[in-house]
Amino acid sequence: MTCRDFRDFRGFPISRRTFVAALAATPVAATFAQSTRNDQRPTSPTGARLVLLGTAGGPTPKAQRSAPAQAIVAGDRVYLVDCGDGVARQLALARIPLRQLRAVFITHQHSDHNAGYGPLFLVGWAGGIEAPVDTYGPPPLAKMTRSLLDAYEFDITLRIADEGRPPLAPLIRPHEITGAGEVFTDDRVRVTAARNRHVPIEHSFAYRFDTADRSIVISGDTAYSEEVLSLARGADVLVHEALYRPFWERADAPQPPAVRRHIIASHTDVEDVGRLAAAAGVKTLVLSHLVPSEPTVVGGVSDEQWLAAARKHFKGTVILGADLQEL
Ligand SMILES: [Zn+2]
Ligand SMILES: [Zn+2]
Repeated sequence: MTCRDFRDFRGFPISRRTFVAALAATPVAATFAQSTRNDQRPTSPTGARLVLLGTAGGPTPKAQRSAPAQAIVAGDRVYLVDCGDGVARQLALARIPLRQLRAVFITHQHSDHNAGYGPLFLVGWAGGIEAPVDTYGPPPLAKMTRSLLDAYEFDITLRIADEGRPPLAPLIRPHEITGAGEVFTDDRVRVTAARNRHVPIEHSFAYRFDTADRSIVISGDTAYSEEVLSLARGADVLVHEALYRPFWERADAPQPPAVRRHIIASHTDVEDVGRLAAAAGVKTLVLSHLVPSEPTVVGGVSDEQWLAAARKHFKGTVILGADLQEL
């Protein structure tokens, strides 16, 4: 993605001048613009870029934010964390070529994080994936991969015969993760997993990417987690999920009581996200997987409220994540 490739929330291209001018129109936006200006774009071939592909939380489709996914781009290789619905489209909007996809890391098997996994490969196969892609995630990743290939057997068989495509199955290499530790390494990145706290799911993980010039941590979905804190210690960037607890404690909050209880128990209040970022000593905190995700719902949480809550305890740079934002 170049500086000229800014887009509005619908994905329509806008000029950088328009983009920055729009951002500067409000104090919060000015913070975003400031932090964007301050970000040093890596210039070495292996320098890592982080692209937020989807910053919503929860399985329901949202108008203003796409489902959870992040791309870490190191030179000509792309590493994906989570595959929310529409991740292939988000990659296209971010101008990240599918043929550069090297590995995929799923934090946990909730549908907001994996609904785009199968489609990514189906359309990615037609869209340029030619070399095997290693995929990592909790069980049943291997079974899901097999089942998806079965479900779309008609199209896959047809395209092999009709278009001369190579078989799709060998291009997806699933690896199931059930414990913490190093899960992947090549000459660009080292990826370490830590178990987070996302009840009632046992196998749920955060991932840390260490590259030649940056360390980036993605929390996954989690309540406040000492394990995530340890994983994030000293990181350049921490992308952490965030819950605005007062919203969910209101008498008129959406969702039935049981769902609200689940939401509060399995996610991290944004003030605690700030506490964790401060304790971990990260340089930049990115709020993502926002719950609730859209400020336009009646009584929703404003950008200013999210940022103020995170800054209560964390004095480093705080960025309220936006789809297709590059850091
Ligand atoms: Zn989620
Ligand atoms: Zn989840």
